[in-house]
Amino acid sequence: MRLFDCHCHYHLGPGGIEPLLRTAMLTEMAVDHLPPREDRHRRADLSMSYPSSSDDVGAAPSFSFAGAALMSTHPRDYPIVTSMATTTSGSCSNFDGKVLVPCYGIHPWFLHEVLPDPDDDDDDDDDDDVGWIVDLKRWLIDRPDAIVGEIGLDGMRWREVIEEEDGGGTATIRNYRKRILSCPMNVQRYAFERQLLLATEMRRPVSIHVVGAWGELLDSLTSVRDEMTRRHRHAMDIDDARGMEDDDGRSDDERSIVPTSNEGRRRTKAERRRRGRYLLPPKIYFHSFSGKAGMIPSLLAACERGNVRRGDVYFGFAPAIPNFHSPKTPSIMRQIGIDQLLLETDLEDSSCAWDDMLEGLAGMASALDMDVRDVADATYRNAMRFYFDIGEEENPQRRMKRDIPCDHHLA
Ligand SMILES: [Zn+2]
Repeated sequence: MRLFDCHCHYHLGPGGIEPLLRTAMLTEMAVDHLPPREDRHRRADLSMSYPSSSDDVGAAPSFSFAGAALMSTHPRDYPIVTSMATTTSGSCSNFDGKVLVPCYGIHPWFLHEVLPDPDDDDDDDDDDDVGWIVDLKRWLIDRPDAIVGEIGLDGMRWREVIEEEDGGGTATIRNYRKRILSCPMNVQRYAFERQLLLATEMRRPVSIHVVGAWGELLDSLTSVRDEMTRRHRHAMDIDDARGMEDDDGRSDDERSIVPTSNEGRRRTKAERRRRGRYLLPPKIYFHSFSGKAGMIPSLLAACERGNVRRGDVYFGFAPAIPNFHSPKTPSIMRQIGIDQLLLETDLEDSSCAWDDMLEGLAGMASALDMDVRDVADATYRNAMRFYFDIGEEENPQRRMKRDIPCDHHLA
């Protein structure tokens, strides 16, 4: 049985010191060969989840590491994510037989380091404002197997800044510390929506981080749906005005379908109608889900309004994040159901990831009252569906690129 880590940051390495993949993660391992875990006292006792040797000799499940999705959080991650996810055989990366999916995007915690300061009125910032999204698009074009992540909204991440305070009539200036949201929510929403729009237009799945901003998330999904509707209408108006004879102003993949005859023109119209249904990214993954149970129906409905089927919306829970251990989490997992759950660690240090993947499996098995083998099997299939099963009619280039090393996983 193979395990796929659907959300991690292995490229950053332990403590941000060194990217680490030369670890046990890359060795085929059975559960009974786990490294010692004495220092990991917070972990649940995994042995509870597996048949003991006295009950069922030789029946301990054997899992192997199939690969991982490497999430960027900042443009500085893009080169190393790309290099780790690239082999001589080309894209749809394969490291020592493991599949590594490159993911590009800017995390809400780091937007203030990348986007221009919203309080700065300097006109020269115009280039910076588009530079980051143009850069992101370029990386995505280069890697049709890449998805967009990690992006999102965070209403609970604070940072300290030093501000100056005028001492009144005393002509003294006093410095004081002030706690502010890591990035103002209006800027977060702007950047998040730009990235969602890009993922929608390029037909890429997205991995989304949301903490304390679920209302804002629903508002952003509405804004993106509205903007895509506006863009489709605008494109249709242009086509009508030109009698479908001029393909100027279209995206690259649209240009590949040039109407040269009546039949070609009809195909283009059909293509336009099909694209008109694309109002949100094709697949959406709420990683380390921290919303309340009541939020799930609202999320699914918001995605459906953007023509994203319920089966294309996924949720993950990382043992390294406290909400995994909340007493409410098992019932939320049951509400979501095994078919929409993904296994994830959200770790930087891949040497700890194996433990967390097993703990994640055990947590889901316990919540859903399932055998860990069945959970492993189902979450692996879910991962393959999320990362690789994009309809070829939606993105033929992506399908072509992923075929080489990944097809056997889809069987
Ligand atoms: Zn993450």
